[in-house]
Amino acid sequence: MIALEEHTPEDRAARERLDARAEAMLERTLGWARMNTGSWNTDGIKGFAPGLADAFAELEADIRLDPPAPIETVDAKGHSHEIETGPILRVAARPQAPVQVVMSGHYDTVFPPGTFEDIKDLGEGRINGPGVADMKGGLVVMLEALKAFEASALKDRIGYRIVVTPDEEIGNFASAHALKDAAQSGAQIGMTYEPAMESGAMSGGRKGSAVYDIVLHGRAAHAGRAKEEGRSAIAAAAELALGLETLNGAREGVSFNVGRIDGGGAVNIVPDIAVVRFGARAPDAQAARWAQGEVERLMARALERDGITGHLHGGFYRPPKPRNGAQQALFEAVAGTGRALGLSLEFQDTGGVCEGNNIFAAGVPNVDTLGVVGGRIHSAEEYVVTSSFAERAALSAFILNRLADGRIDGAKIKALMG
Ligand SMILES: [Zn+2]
Repeated sequence: MIALEEHTPEDRAARERLDARAEAMLERTLGWARMNTGSWNTDGIKGFAPGLADAFAELEADIRLDPPAPIETVDAKGHSHEIETGPILRVAARPQAPVQVVMSGHYDTVFPPGTFEDIKDLGEGRINGPGVADMKGGLVVMLEALKAFEASALKDRIGYRIVVTPDEEIGNFASAHALKDAAQSGAQIGMTYEPAMESGAMSGGRKGSAVYDIVLHGRAAHAGRAKEEGRSAIAAAAELALGLETLNGAREGVSFNVGRIDGGGAVNIVPDIAVVRFGARAPDAQAARWAQGEVERLMARALERDGITGHLHGGFYRPPKPRNGAQQALFEAVAGTGRALGLSLEFQDTGGVCEGNNIFAAGVPNVDTLGVVGGRIHSAEEYVVTSSFAERAALSAFILNRLADGRIDGAKIKALMG
């Protein structure tokens, strides 16, 4: 069989086509970057979605905009609220094909309206703008790679489901069900379009990430006349926060961070409410279970305090994505494919999380930094390397070609998940 590193006629056709699309890819990305889709900008998100769906209608696939699940938030008084975001784009093609792939990306950004909206040419093949790398550029790369693949005779070998979400930057709470559903519809391999690093390197192992809100209720009393009748929710919260911070270092790779405490009111009133908001990271499933157990232990200890009640919200919304046998085999296949394009791709472990964590948790090995090359993401200096549009779209098209012609065996890689 022809090697991963060699070119088939389909590879050459995809390369040529995508080189010719480089300018169009950049233009579409900049057009999308000009439309604000900050995660909480529900109007902007809803306004953007129909154009996104129109673009994906260029594929030979069924397109749907589905309503998202509501996002639960806990306010400073400990009350839960539901917030609505925009639709989830779901695309499906050829469910009977022998090879099935799940692809994902997000169309929200971290930038609220009015914070970072300008697009600037930085010279030397770099363009600065909101979401140009993370990840409107990535969405364009995904779409063009699929169009190139669908132009080839190998098309019928691969079916796919795509999920493009409105809420990745705030944790995928509205769209996690759609990612899971798409991944578990028979997918062998997952492909997600977060940006590659400035060096061109991609992400390897990822930790899992949890967010929690612990609501504690005490009893209010006048601090001067009847302090002894009060039960301080803030005292309970303070003990809990110290307990969480003390866990740092207790287990390899696990960390806790108390990010915020809400509560109380006037200084002459014993506070009857406090909300402790914190995050946790863990490198693998056992470590995540340990972390969850420690949170529950500290919560139980807080509730043992006289007059304190409360409840716990949250958990590991993105489970860990360690380098297991399946991930390692997939990374090697992608690295081999990269060599066909003259790229030497490296995979670096990171504490950051993305939709690749969700897809891994659904049982599908995946590579999650197939988008453009860029840098300074989540800052007003975010930029994209313009030459990476054609290069990274070709990388995806080449991966699809190899999955289709058997040079990459998706079923075999998935079987290594155990
Ligand atoms: Zn992103």
